[in-house]
Amino acid sequence: MLKTFNQQCRAVELLKRQARISIVHKETRLSKRVPKEGYHEIHGRFACAGAVKYSTQGLTRTLKKYKEVTFFAACFATVTAKTQDLEIIHVIHAYDLFKKIYGSSQLDFTGAWVVARDLRLGITKLSKCHHCGAPVLLNAREDDSNRCGVVQLN
Ligand SMILES: [Zn+2]
Repeated sequence: MLKTFNQQCRAVELLKRQARISIVHKETRLSKRVPKEGYHEIHGRFACAGAVKYSTQGLTRTLKKYKEVTFFAACFATVTAKTQDLEIIHVIHAYDLFKKIYGSSQLDFTGAWVVARDLRLGITKLSKCHHCGAPVLLNAREDDSNRCGVVQLN
């Protein structure tokens, strides 16, 4: 029963941040019916249905979005710096940190989850700008311009 309780607590934390039902299902192993009902309960409307199709590259079409994604990646790296543990709870903590500092950002939790997933899989890589030291997310843009959002150079 404790395992189920933990799964349910985790599902609530994800639902509060408006994660997609498919993510809640994947991360908690609860049947999709439970988070669907929970989402409606919390937000008073039905969840956006469907699978998570996007990639980090799909989230960085403008320089502003690229900066947001890079900043989230930096938050995620900070949270996971001391652990190899690939827990969803780190994505939650990183997202909360990100929203606290960058409240006006349009990156939603589902997008943040995708960015964290791609970092974990090694599809993208967090680096630093040689000029100013600001974080640069490598392989995160379709045109592969791995430029710094601050000094706008490679
Ligand atoms: Zn720079």
